Amino acid sequence: MRNNRAQDLRKSFIDSLEEDIRDFLINEAELHTYDDLTKVNPVTPSTVLKCLQARYSAKVFYTHAGCTLVALNPFQPIPHLYSLDVMREYHAAPQPQEFKPHIFIVAEEAYRNVQGQVEPMNQSLVVSGESGAGKTWTSRCLMKYYATVAASSQKCQDTVEKIERRVLGSNPIMEAFGNACTLRNSNSSRFGKYIQLQLNGSQLLVGASVQTYLLEKTRVAFQAPNERNFHIFYQMMKGATEKQRLEWMLPLDQDFAWLPHAEKTLEGKYCTSRMLACVDYCSLSLSSFCAGFLQKTADLLQVPLDELQSCLTVRTLHAGKQNVLKPCSQSECSVRRDCLAKVIYAQLFDWLVTFINNSMCADSSMWCNFIGLLDVYGFECFLLNNLEQLCINYANEKLQQHFVAHYLKAQQEEYVTEGLQWSFIRYQDNQGCLDLIEGSPSSIFSLLNEDCRLNRASDAKQFCVRLQKELSHNASISWDKFSKQPHFTVAHYADKVSYQIEGMMEKNKDPVPPELISLLQNSQDSLLHSLFADGDHESEGLRGHSKVVTVVSKFRNSLESLMKILHSTTPHYTRCIKPNPDCRPLTFKREEVIAQLEACGIVETINISAAGFPIRIPYGNFLQRYGLITNTRLTAQMNTPLSPTGPEMSNQAVLGSAVEDVLNVVLKRRAPNSTLSPDDNN
Ligand code: ATP
Ligand code: MG
Repeated sequence: MRNNRAQDLRKSFIDSLEEDIRDFLINEAELHTYDDLTKVNPVTPSTVLKCLQARYSAKVFYTHAGCTLVALNPFQPIPHLYSLDVMREYHAAPQPQEFKPHIFIVAEEAYRNVQGQVEPMNQSLVVSGESGAGKTWTSRCLMKYYATVAASSQKCQDTVEKIERRVLGSNPIMEAFGNACTLRNSNSSRFGKYIQLQLNGSQLLVGASVQTYLLEKTRVAFQAPNERNFHIFYQMMKGATEKQRLEWMLPLDQDFAWLPHAEKTLEGKYCTSRMLACVDYCSLSLSSFCAGFLQKTADLLQVPLDELQSCLTVRTLHAGKQNVLKPCSQSECSVRRDCLAKVIYAQLFDWLVTFINNSMCADSSMWCNFIGLLDVYGFECFLLNNLEQLCINYANEKLQQHFVAHYLKAQQEEYVTEGLQWSFIRYQDNQGCLDLIEGSPSSIFSLLNEDCRLNRASDAKQFCVRLQKELSHNASISWDKFSKQPHFTVAHYADKVSYQIEGMMEKNKDPVPPELISLLQNSQDSLLHSLFADGDHESEGLRGHSKVVTVVSKFRNSLESLMKILHSTTPHYTRCIKPNPDCRPLTFKREEVIAQLEACGIVETINISAAGFPIRIPYGNFLQRYGLITNTRLTAQMNTPLSPTGPEMSNQAVLGSAVEDVLNVVLKRRAPNSTLSPDDNN
């Protein structure tokens, strides 16, 4: 009799447990309530997509995905979500992670971690996603958060306010010079950036520094159809006073060839740099090589007219001890003109970054920790891809590798702490792809650099043959037999991308005629002179056989330093998703989103999570609810108080396996083959 009653009790508890487990399984009506994608069950790209769509429809824009935050772009202002009050609420909460998912949880976690309970630890917030997904918006939001919460002390209020103003104030300046209207985003960042917010021992913001990556300087002289040049040019044209117009020789009615779509309005800003006017003038004066415009350019650059003309139209060849002058063809002249504009703009941008750093950066004695914000271009795959996309996708491979290593480590550590039986997670390793791009002795980068070092004439077909000979053993590279253009296809972790080889070697060399550099070095304009005086930039002439600094080498080095910093910090990942390609408010296109989930590694994250235990209930809660139904092992544990900070290992281990026993019983009743073994989820 007693036995029967016990059995009945057991059965009814198992039934209720089964019901609860069903709650974990996909329930369409409830989907929007899942705050963490790894809790959706089964965890597949399609259920995850459904969940995100349901949340987006319910105007819920943030969702956790394990240790990552997914941010869907609402494409419309949501002021109540980011108000000062909300910031303060998250900041003051004893357990912010119990609040609704929000970028402020990530911000606050990093802020608390930076002081560390055991020892201080620098933090990095990595924000990624495709163009228009909301990276820069999110970074700005994070900066505002820290400027608010790290400035709340009365102590040093003046300094903090000043710094906070400068840090936030640097954004519009950097965006004016580094952002442009593209087909995919009307305020697209054309450079990557890593900002370190420097905190003192009291966790106050006392300074900041910024490092930039790979400015798309080609935009100065070339814009794809329906795209624009950097904002600053339009702002200058629009915002210049009459006096400035005269000084910079800006006509009111002149169409500049390099400033298309000036009719589109963006907010006007004030700029006093005559050099930008020079860059403008390059498009006018030099495209027609009209003497009047050339004179204006020479005046603005403060260089002699005849020297400017000869730099742009005559090439100096070194034959033994003699110099031979060779007139350039029209297309060579155009290349030189573009080069002049690009090199001035790139140097000016770097100068601006240094200037901003000098005004924001605290003395090293004043700060002890930092929170870094990384806003980098996401994975790119266009119809035509070249060196820029290769570099960008290479950076994304590096970040993905870092992310997977970090995420796996965090997960394994969690299982070890909980004393769970665990076999290693299998996941897609992208080392092969990285070896292909940057490895030694042979890789795409090494072959590109060899071409430059040996000063080979850039021949796309020959380069393609060399790639096939040296790299075809690597499974990450392939060639389409039917393609007419020399190309190679790389299987990135996110997708396959075909890169055209034509122009790639030249882009890597990024040659600047030495005549142009000497011309600019001798400018009477003090700023221009200083930009080129230190000989930091390389020209064709400075690149001897021993010293070759190519675009990929430079990029690789700066990325290496970035990775070193990231490895020394605790990372927090935010994946921004663009829900539709037209930037329309509250519109969710499934195909767009799933492609991005793959590209930003969320699918991989989900796979990794799915390879782990898919259902997680805190032991305490589990015991409270289901303790009665199971054997003495578990019941005995009910009487042992669990420490709130860290339960005993032995308790955890016993509880863990007891929990597994119960769940396995239930799952077996549902489907005879299902068990909770992590490997079965692969
Ligand atoms: P790119 O790689 O081209 O620089 P991005 O990822 O930096 O793109 P953003 O410029 O940050 O994209 O965002 C594009 C636009 O989306 C913003 O100008 C803004 O209008 C909108 N947006 C992004 N995030 C949000 C948000 N959380 N709330 C409201 N609007 C947003
Ligand atoms: Mg951006």
